[in-house]
Amino acid sequence: MTTHRPVLIAGGGIGGLTAAIALDREGIESHILERSTFAEESGAGIQLGPNATRILQRLGVLDALNPQTFRPEAVWLFDGRNGDKLATVPLGDLAEKRYGAPYITAHRADLHEALRTVAAGCAHVSLTTEFTVADIRDEDGVSVTGSNGETQHGSLLVGADGLWSTVRGWVAPGLAPSFTGATAFRSLMPRDALPEPFSAPIVGLWLGPRSHLVHYPVRGGDAVNVVAVTEQGDKQEGWNRSAEKETVLSNFARWSDAPLGLMDAAPSWRAWSLFRLPALPHWSRGATVLLGDAAHPVLPYLAQGAGLAIEDAAKLAELLGANRAQPSHAFQAYEALRRPRATRVQQASKRLGRAYHMGDGFFGEVFRAARNTILGLRSETATLRGFDWLYGHEG
Ligand SMILES: Cc1cc2nc3c(=O)[nH]c(=O)nc-3n(C[C@H](O)[C@H](O)[C@H](O)COP(=O)(O)OP(=O)(O)OC[C@H]3O[C@@H](n4cnc5c(N)ncnc54)[C@H](O)[C@@H]3O)c2cc1C
Repeated sequence: MTTHRPVLIAGGGIGGLTAAIALDREGIESHILERSTFAEESGAGIQLGPNATRILQRLGVLDALNPQTFRPEAVWLFDGRNGDKLATVPLGDLAEKRYGAPYITAHRADLHEALRTVAAGCAHVSLTTEFTVADIRDEDGVSVTGSNGETQHGSLLVGADGLWSTVRGWVAPGLAPSFTGATAFRSLMPRDALPEPFSAPIVGLWLGPRSHLVHYPVRGGDAVNVVAVTEQGDKQEGWNRSAEKETVLSNFARWSDAPLGLMDAAPSWRAWSLFRLPALPHWSRGATVLLGDAAHPVLPYLAQGAGLAIEDAAKLAELLGANRAQPSHAFQAYEALRRPRATRVQQASKRLGRAYHMGDGFFGEVFRAARNTILGLRSETATLRGFDWLYGHEG
């Protein structure tokens, strides 16, 4: 590592900011280059499992975030077609005791603000906004040129620039995300205006044919984030375009009254097309390495994309701290540890999506009935134990 130069981090999102804070704890200087002014970070909720909050706790981010978080008591699963409650996955104190860190829900903007506040207090972190990484050169470390023509020099470059990563084009050229055919619609509603179970202190998960619905409190419990996912929609980049209520409801025509009532009551909707990416041949090239969605985007059915980015960031910083003279060793060890974990989460998320969306056509109905029966047979603690590999992960 060229120690007199900072590690450049392309992207000040969840993974990039976590990486900067974790590098600071190793005494390594970093400089975040973020294309936006962060004004876009609005309107969406996020669930973070104990695998992610354990790291945020260690980095001091959870304390900054805590007043704005919510700790759901459980996940309640429902059949969206007939409204039957199918199963409960206990969270709350039980999960916190089991995994040593809480399961939380939060508004993305609140998580982002907590990360920025902690990063701002770090002696070794600097940030430039409105810098869009456009070109990368491996020369005496790494040089990054922004779309405004300005060049920044660093010892290393961490590509934390998300699903549509520019840095990935340098590390593994020729790969582009492809549309999955699914769209996520989301809305935010005041909690006190909602009936049970939508106002309950839980994550509600409603399963339906080629669709599902999730709701959970955010903003310390004042608001409820609602996400409706369907296997239909447009292929569009970005995650903040507006959508008509009629478009959302048309995808849930055969659903029962309660979830339809929630969707009908939502004041406005934003849409987010879901994309997938083939596995990259490698996650690093020369002095540049990728993390988070730039390396391995994951479908949202397990609510783990940000969790993986946080895990990546912490592990990368730890390995760079332990291999200061030979960052290429750190990159190799990082990929060897992180690729199997990310692949497992990606695969589990895909499988879960298929199980959520059963019920279309004759065979779909058969699978839906079998799924509902199996969900009803498992004990609550056995269901939670099934997530030990995910939430208990220690890297
Ligand atoms: C509907 C939906 C719901 C989700 N819910 C959850 C959930 O509940 N829990 C969970 O863990 N995950 C969830 N995710 C996934 C999660 O949002 C992402 O996986 C996570 O944000 C990835 O973090 P990241 O740091 O890799 O990328 P991002 O957070 O996307 O950050 C990338 C940053 O890079 C910047 N950038 C991009 N290009 C450039 C450039 N050229 N130069 C400079 N800066 C650049 C961007 O402006 C952005 O700030 C969800 C995703 C979807 C679609």
